[in-house]
Amino acid sequence: MQESNNWHSLEVDEVLRAVESSQDGLSSTEVEARLKKYGPNKLQEEKKKSAVVRFLMQFNNLLIYVLLSAAVVTAVLDHMIDTVVILGVVLINAIIGFIQENRAQNAMDAIKKMLAFHAIVMRDNSKQKVQSESLVIGDIVFMKPGDRVLADIRLLETHAFSVQEAPLTGESVAVEKSVKKVMPEATLGDRSSMAFAGTTIAGGEAKGVVVATADRTELGRISGMLSSVETLTTPLVEQMDRFAKYLTFFILSFSLLIFLVGYFVKGLDFTEAFMAVIGLFVAAIPEGLPAVLTITLAVGVQAMAKRNAIVRQLPAIETIGSVSVICSDKTGTLTQNEMMVSSVVTNDRNYRVSGAGYEPIGDLYFKDEKVDIDRDERVKFLAKTSLLCSDAILREEDNSWTIEGSPTEGALVTFAHKAGFYANETREVFKRDDKIPFDSKHKYMATLNHSHEGESIIVVKGAAEIIIKMSEFEYVDAENEKEIQSAYWEEMAKELASCGERVLALAYKKVSHDKATLDFDDLKEGLVLIALVGLIDPPRPEAIEAIKECYSAHIDVKMITGDHLLTATAIGKTIGLRNCENVLSGADIEKLSDEELERVVLNTDIFARTTPEHKLRLVKALQAHSKIVAMTGDGVNDAPALKRANVGIAMGKSGTEAAKESSEFVLTDDNFASIVNAVREGRRVYDNIKKVISWTLPTNASEASVIIVAIFFGMVMPITPIQILWANMITAVTLGIALAFEDEDKNIMKRSPRAIDEPILNRELIWHIVYVTTLFLIAVFGAFYYAMQSGASVEYARTLALNVLVFLEIFHLFYIRNLNIIELKLSDVLANRVVWSAVSVIFFAQIAITYIPFLQGVFLTASLTLFDFSMIFLCGVVVFALLELEKQFRLRVARKREIA
Ligand code: ATP
Repeated sequence: MQESNNWHSLEVDEVLRAVESSQDGLSSTEVEARLKKYGPNKLQEEKKKSAVVRFLMQFNNLLIYVLLSAAVVTAVLDHMIDTVVILGVVLINAIIGFIQENRAQNAMDAIKKMLAFHAIVMRDNSKQKVQSESLVIGDIVFMKPGDRVLADIRLLETHAFSVQEAPLTGESVAVEKSVKKVMPEATLGDRSSMAFAGTTIAGGEAKGVVVATADRTELGRISGMLSSVETLTTPLVEQMDRFAKYLTFFILSFSLLIFLVGYFVKGLDFTEAFMAVIGLFVAAIPEGLPAVLTITLAVGVQAMAKRNAIVRQLPAIETIGSVSVICSDKTGTLTQNEMMVSSVVTNDRNYRVSGAGYEPIGDLYFKDEKVDIDRDERVKFLAKTSLLCSDAILREEDNSWTIEGSPTEGALVTFAHKAGFYANETREVFKRDDKIPFDSKHKYMATLNHSHEGESIIVVKGAAEIIIKMSEFEYVDAENEKEIQSAYWEEMAKELASCGERVLALAYKKVSHDKATLDFDDLKEGLVLIALVGLIDPPRPEAIEAIKECYSAHIDVKMITGDHLLTATAIGKTIGLRNCENVLSGADIEKLSDEELERVVLNTDIFARTTPEHKLRLVKALQAHSKIVAMTGDGVNDAPALKRANVGIAMGKSGTEAAKESSEFVLTDDNFASIVNAVREGRRVYDNIKKVISWTLPTNASEASVIIVAIFFGMVMPITPIQILWANMITAVTLGIALAFEDEDKNIMKRSPRAIDEPILNRELIWHIVYVTTLFLIAVFGAFYYAMQSGASVEYARTLALNVLVFLEIFHLFYIRNLNIIELKLSDVLANRVVWSAVSVIFFAQIAITYIPFLQGVFLTASLTLFDFSMIFLCGVVVFALLELEKQFRLRVARKREIA
């Protein structure tokens, strides 16, 4: 195979010869051989660090440095036990960091895999969808608007083809492309006979041959290495991360102050003061918080992916939970997108067509009587022209019929097969010379075909009312046509649409045999309307349920469709949209000013015959009411609306790369129900983030306060610093992380969406920290002094106080799990498996530290009685009740205020 840098300056035939390929593409064996020889079509990626290196990197952090210094100081002071405990804290901290990083990495890798690019190629004489990585030099590739170009491609055939080359040339305006060769010295931006990897197709269609892959593409040459280090984070987590850093500095200074007060003012000895300060330092800093929050996100990302929603931009995982309006496409999202022709209307007859799905078996009925299609010239002509003006391919595999291409066209191809026209033969006899591709803006498609017998025709198919308007005549039979009776056709189109059918019209025109190209001017006169076809597309049953769920979660649903008003209304009613009376069409929207649109947008749930441009105006109008808008889209023109929406959601199956790149989410199943699942998951993630923070901060504050209060008031420490280190260490790895796996609240889809700008560290949380810290301090000091008063040893009293602290943290966790629930049942309080496992670990750890002689020696603890543990449990129950009482009061007042 020849190599060249000048593919743009060679003729098409020369290029094909050089890359040893043909217009019909390669065979799969040849592809395999080339893959082996040249490698996959993938840019070189940065090498991943080994697990050991990643683990060691966890030690590169300020907190760890301080702790390591403390370990050195305690070792020098010959307090080896303290040294070991501090090193234990360091190790545990590194382990949490490591787990977090792995989780995050796995989540990101899975996303990347699911978002892999695909190309349509010609192999083994048939069109196939293949992964980008399997493209080889010589592959024949088909490109349509919104696709990403995946290799360097010499164009072989173009139809109004233009490409957005900004990533390569910096030029933001799309450039026109053609097959004509250009000068060898042309710069990248002027090589109009080429499509380069990394660019996006802006309009039209093309066929081309791959001439360079992977690092040998122009993109590969400039970028050299694709660095793809993405971190799993959101604004909220970043905010907490920053908060934790500031807090560390603050606590470091504060600890120094406490040390000075303890040593100089209160007269503690150096070691005692130093250890108290280290204990305070570790206790006060929420060191595990950023890591646990990232784990919460990773769990959320993975759960969403499992439910068919891939997060492309992580901040959106926070936003999606607060969505208050979902704007959804109809076809394929709310409906199944499995179309079938069910009606045909000619100039004097109204037929029904039977069948199921894409299986080409079915009959034609007129007034309930079966019709012999073979003897019905009009229906036969309709079937033939439908086939010529469609690109979809019908396939049978294991007795099941599927289509490749648009379902609308798939339905027409199936219909043609039912009428005895087979795609390959018919398309062979009537070769296509040129076409005007379908665009949702003009809503039709046209082709120019000629037969061997010298017959040349233009066929147009598209939205009924548009084709009716474009036509001058109507088809009577092969020889006759008459002036079009528009009123009749419009009436019939309305009738079909009111039953929820998508109505297309087909028209044709004979042209001279030497006509080789087709443009819009050719459709201006002389078109003959052949017939109307009505396509059914059943709603998705799960979408009906999902819409109900949205309403209960105070989320509005708007259907935005390119389809006809009546079709949209009928479908809207079937799927249970709240307001199907006021429908706005694209034409209506155009007549309204932005202010007028804002006034009507809230009371309209159906927008029909819209173009992607209208979507942008609708998003803006909704946002003017402070709505948080989720918007779906698939086409290249949907990109601006997807970008503008608070959450852009692209269709994974039918969506273009351009739409995906402008979106925060990609749905792998194009299903409306998956959006609602993502909202639910988004709410869960946010709840869990809030729960993790609401549990961690008061826990740290209470542990630190025990030391601060003791030093400031010159009291005997009720828990020694080393015991605090222990408590902090075991609860942070267990209880903190358990909350990341919390199930959703039972009322999660019954609550109103959260205000997007609600700060997490709000007054409520600060109050919660103060309240919990006060309760904990009373309990810990109370237990300590109670034991001391009853004549117990200080070790015994401290063991009691330590256990009170740790068990209260468990009870606090059980309280946090139902942070948002007013009507609490016992079953809600009893936790999930992860929480119970965490609780069991802590329980046994506490038993160990209380009773095992070796640990008693290390931590200076003493064995407690069963009675003590019953009292600790009781204390936990009382604190839980006090927390719950406060919450009940607070939530009920808030609810009353909301209702008022
Ligand atoms: P929705 O917006 O509900 O998802 P859609 O995306 O299928 O629907 P468009 O693709 O904008 O809507 O299609 C608008 C209209 O164009 C359809 O109602 C139909 O009449 C016509 N149409 C759709 N596909 C084709 C096609 N392949 N060829 C010709 N006309 C088509």
